[in-house]
Amino acid sequence: MPDGTLRTPDALIQAGLLPESEREALARIAARYAIAVPPAFVRLITHPDDPIARQVLPHADELRTAPHELPDPVGDAAHSPLRGVVHRYPDRLLITPLLVCPLYCRFCFRREQVGPDGGLLTEAELQAAIAYVRAHPELREVILTGGDPLLLSPRRLAWLLVALAEIPHIELLRIHTRVPVADPQRVTDALAAALASETPLWLVLHANHASEFTQDAAAAIRRIQAGMIPVLGQSVLLRGVNDTVSALESLFRTMLRHRVKPYYLHQLDPAPGTARFHVPIAEGQALLAALRGRVTGLAWPTYVLDIEGGHGKVPIGPRYLDAQGGVRDPDGTTHPLAAPLLAAHALAEPPLAAPLLARLAPAS
Ligand code: SF4
Repeated sequence: MPDGTLRTPDALIQAGLLPESEREALARIAARYAIAVPPAFVRLITHPDDPIARQVLPHADELRTAPHELPDPVGDAAHSPLRGVVHRYPDRLLITPLLVCPLYCRFCFRREQVGPDGGLLTEAELQAAIAYVRAHPELREVILTGGDPLLLSPRRLAWLLVALAEIPHIELLRIHTRVPVADPQRVTDALAAALASETPLWLVLHANHASEFTQDAAAAIRRIQAGMIPVLGQSVLLRGVNDTVSALESLFRTMLRHRVKPYYLHQLDPAPGTARFHVPIAEGQALLAALRGRVTGLAWPTYVLDIEGGHGKVPIGPRYLDAQGGVRDPDGTTHPLAAPLLAAHALAEPPLAAPLLARLAPAS
């Protein structure tokens, strides 16, 4: 059913979002990666290189893969015992019930997998995923991600959540979504009701710029929160989108105004053709450090890196303790620590591996 989402180079050119001169490059990109720009984002775009446009409009640079970029940068495949299941950590597991999204982020770490035709698990595959969860009592949490689980029909979503909630060892459910900002009209009362669960359910909203929180998005978030569902925010640190102190401050303050707690700020995963979004880790640390003391601690997400190859997610935020036993305050002044604290500090602060930092340095 047509919903006003722009999905082809032709549609983007006709809407005046990209010039005719880019048609050939756009066709080559469209042959490889999915495109979708929903009306909620079209309305926010003022220029082909503004923070909203950069996230969703295809760009010729996507056809260039840097040597360090990988089709599966976070190593999902190495931890996938079944189609649509990723079991990386002992206590939690991902299910991707579908790989369809309301928009296709040009920096997506699953960009080689997501798309409008892809990844919808069959009934039998979903049943197999649920059986896997049931057979693994060490699991405590199931995360529905994708793709976007809020694109499932309310009936399908409710069925899946009930099936998972009935598993005695599952204490926590989580849904990762972009729908409330990308397609807020989709958050109907029926969809919000489908989220009702006996097991605590947390929703993690992916948003990267304050302007994504339109009035419609605010209403969608409120509809979800009305069901006593806490909403967390996750964002990706992106060049030209949110790579300034003011953009991050505005994003995190806006989240809090909508009762969305900033949870993760992700270092960009090196997916193919995403180099134009790369912000070096040292710069990310400096941005976070500049926010410290300037915004409430509630507005400070954990800055994280998903180690390539499926080795897990680790915090990479700014450090405040130095090797001499000093502690830096938010203004940058270093103070000595009392001796007993210093002993604890030596144990608590392994250095971030220099080889890893070197490997993540921007490609020249
Ligand atoms: S919504 Fe998530 S899964 Fe979909 S394209 Fe964006 S980052 Fe990828």
